[in-house]
Amino acid sequence: MPLLKNFFITLSNNSYLNNAAKKVGPKMGANKVVAGNTIPELINTIEDLNNKNIAVTVDNLGEFVGTIEESLHAKEQILQIMDAIHQHNVNAHMSVKLSQLGAEFDLELAYENLREILLKANEYNNMHINIDTEKYASLQQIIQVLDRLKGEFRNVGTVIQAYLYDCHDLVDKYQDLRLRLVKGAYKEDESIAFQSKEDVDANYIKIIEQRLLNARNFTSIATHDHNIINHVKQFMKTHHIDKNKMEFQMLYGFRSDLAQQIANEGYNFTIYVPYGDDWFGYFMRRLAERPQNLSLAVKEFIKPKSIKRLGITTALISTLLLFLKCFKHCRR
Ligand SMILES: Cc1cc2nc3c(=O)[nH]c(=O)nc-3n(C[C@H](O)[C@H](O)[C@H](O)COP(=O)(O)OP(=O)(O)OC[C@H]3O[C@@H](n4cnc5c(N)ncnc54)[C@H](O)[C@@H]3O)c2cc1C
Repeated sequence: MPLLKNFFITLSNNSYLNNAAKKVGPKMGANKVVAGNTIPELINTIEDLNNKNIAVTVDNLGEFVGTIEESLHAKEQILQIMDAIHQHNVNAHMSVKLSQLGAEFDLELAYENLREILLKANEYNNMHINIDTEKYASLQQIIQVLDRLKGEFRNVGTVIQAYLYDCHDLVDKYQDLRLRLVKGAYKEDESIAFQSKEDVDANYIKIIEQRLLNARNFTSIATHDHNIINHVKQFMKTHHIDKNKMEFQMLYGFRSDLAQQIANEGYNFTIYVPYGDDWFGYFMRRLAERPQNLSLAVKEFIKPKSIKRLGITTALISTLLLFLKCFKHCRR
């Protein structure tokens, strides 16, 4: 359904809507997939997951950072979250976006911000810091920054997006780093990325196998796709790959039962927990991946039979309602 996907991706990239949404707080079920916006709420969520034998990677939400002050503010928020993780002795690390640290207007500033985060992470038992990948246009920035930092720090890694034709080269290049492998969440041109689910899935399996056979560091396989997960489990059995060399990851609020089941089978499991008030872009990307996600989030308000029928309509109508609400709010 490329039309719907494009619709939600376009909304996710709209800075006006993103800013407006911050003021109205998480709506349309977004509160089910974002772990609040106070540190105590976040720590409660992490503790709940840790009690189920599930680790956490925290994402301090926020993408449209256009000034030095905003990037320094984001860095301070990330450092505060790290302080709280350390003080409460919970099993969690950080996922950060270079755009939030200032990369879109000053790459050197983003590098310095990230370096400060890594220095703090070293004080906190080498807490892992993952650089999330964003749009393809920013991939070279991530590579430049990572290549400067990987000599100095051992606790930094990044994400490889399987929809990119040239992702195999990066899997090879970063064999020594901790990597997360994903399908890829952004809309990319066919000159650089596979467009169909079949092609992306096939390439995803290729890089997972390539990585599991050759990696010299930990691997995170981040997907909600049970077919991929089952394939990986079988591949690991066939090739006698140690479960402790890898983990599965999912996003907070999605397929929690499956996550728990996999953790109970003895696999390492980490949940990616988004936190903070800048929820709109993140939530729109989740709808772009799977418009039914919205129906799942509001399912207690709708009878199960109607969900299937109304899924996509509900998603569209709710988004438009939010659009109007944000618009009204900003005119006030
Ligand atoms: C922990 C984590 C971190 C990520 N980090 C990044 C990043 O840094 N950069 C980036 O570009 N992308 C990132 N992503 C997003 C990723 O690239 C995909 O866009 C996203 O995970 C959707 O793809 P999928 O592999 O989950 O499977 P999909 O292709 O979305 O789904 C495959 C199948 O799985 C089933 N399924 C999926 N979701 C559900 C559900 N909620 N309930 C029931 N069945 C379901 C359905 O049968 C579906 O057809 C991340 C994803 C995760 C989980």
